[in-house]
Amino acid sequence: MLMPNFAYVRVKSLKEGIQHLSSDGARIHAGGTDLLGCLRDDIFGAKKLVSLSQLNDLRGIRLTKEGGLRIGALTTLTEVVKNKMIQERYPALAKAASEVATPQLRNQGTMGGNICQKPRCWYYRGEFHCLRKGGDRCYASSGENQFHSIFGSGGICYIVHPSDIAPVLVAHEAVLQAAGPKGTRPIPLAKFYVLPSIDVQRETVLKPNEIVTEILLPPPVRGLRSSYRKVRTRRSWDFAVAGVVLALKFNGDLVEKARVVLSGAAPIPWRSKEAEGAITGKRLEAQTVAQAAEAAVKNAEPLEQNGYKIALFRSIIEEELLAIAKV
Ligand SMILES: Cc1cc2nc3c(=O)[nH]c(=O)nc-3n(C[C@H](O)[C@H](O)[C@H](O)COP(=O)(O)OP(=O)(O)OC[C@H]3O[C@@H](n4cnc5c(N)ncnc54)[C@H](O)[C@@H]3O)c2cc1C
Ligand code: SF4
Repeated sequence: MLMPNFAYVRVKSLKEGIQHLSSDGARIHAGGTDLLGCLRDDIFGAKKLVSLSQLNDLRGIRLTKEGGLRIGALTTLTEVVKNKMIQERYPALAKAASEVATPQLRNQGTMGGNICQKPRCWYYRGEFHCLRKGGDRCYASSGENQFHSIFGSGGICYIVHPSDIAPVLVAHEAVLQAAGPKGTRPIPLAKFYVLPSIDVQRETVLKPNEIVTEILLPPPVRGLRSSYRKVRTRRSWDFAVAGVVLALKFNGDLVEKARVVLSGAAPIPWRSKEAEGAITGKRLEAQTVAQAAEAAVKNAEPLEQNGYKIALFRSIIEEELLAIAKV
């Protein structure tokens, strides 16, 4: 299919960008790796693309005065992979970024674009006017659903959130800044994504004329260990079939605080409070870890073809917890 016609503006300031985005049919263009494919495949339209490429304030990674990190929304995934501060302080983030797509896509794709990317459900990406596109049915619920969600669908839409980065940001309790007509507002990543039961046509709480400007990671606390494990169907580029982020604060060998967030599991990065509860205040011994993995999948609601994900999640959660205990 040919790319449709649209106007294109390279804005020189956030204010100018927000003004353009306030007009009907305007969309943000960052690296374009997701957006242009969606437009070409007619998944949605655009009257105007608002390029952020000249907003240099939105680039780069730096320390905040509190000792955390500020990652500009236009920072590329390759920059995140190579950044020494991220490698040392937030290894799960460096790992997740390194496992996104291909080197070319990581050079072009930005952090803002990654966390705002559109779902990958093949019906949504195909010529099916499903619920998420304003239609009257979900084609995946009784169709080809082997890569769809086992949590959080609400029986409405079974996408899995496609980003490897977002679950890590949720686990680290990161906050993004969104600039709009009334100024800038902070949004915790844990509250950024929208479940189908709230609104099946929206993936995030962002308004059409808001721009993600930066992501703020809190200072790493003493005893924090983090990891990301991604399972995909092939070793080259692919989205997560299942994944787990751990961000655990240890006191000696006891887990004092736990964040366990799953990718490839639900329409939003899926925090497993059940697994967190099963390990908090405990040593990661074999029995505890097995109980945590079991608890994580206890409430899963598989479809006809994705029941295998239950055993997959159980085993990667168990393996990752045993591995992080030994670090
Ligand atoms: C072949 C392929 C394989 C991939 N594999 C993976 C994978 O394994 N894991 C993974 O996590 N991702 C994967 N991706 C997705 C990829 O990481 C994203 O396409 C990329 O990060 C998007 O960044 P971008 O700058 O190109 O965004 P764009 O394509 O420019 O934008 C994406 C969306 O975000 C919006 N947007 C962009 N920037 C902002 C902002 N600052 N504020 C508000 N909205 C914004 C745009 O309007 C658009 O809707 C894959 C993509 C492709 C094409
Ligand atoms: S899972 Fe969601 S995006 Fe996919 S067909 Fe169903 S409603 Fe559409």
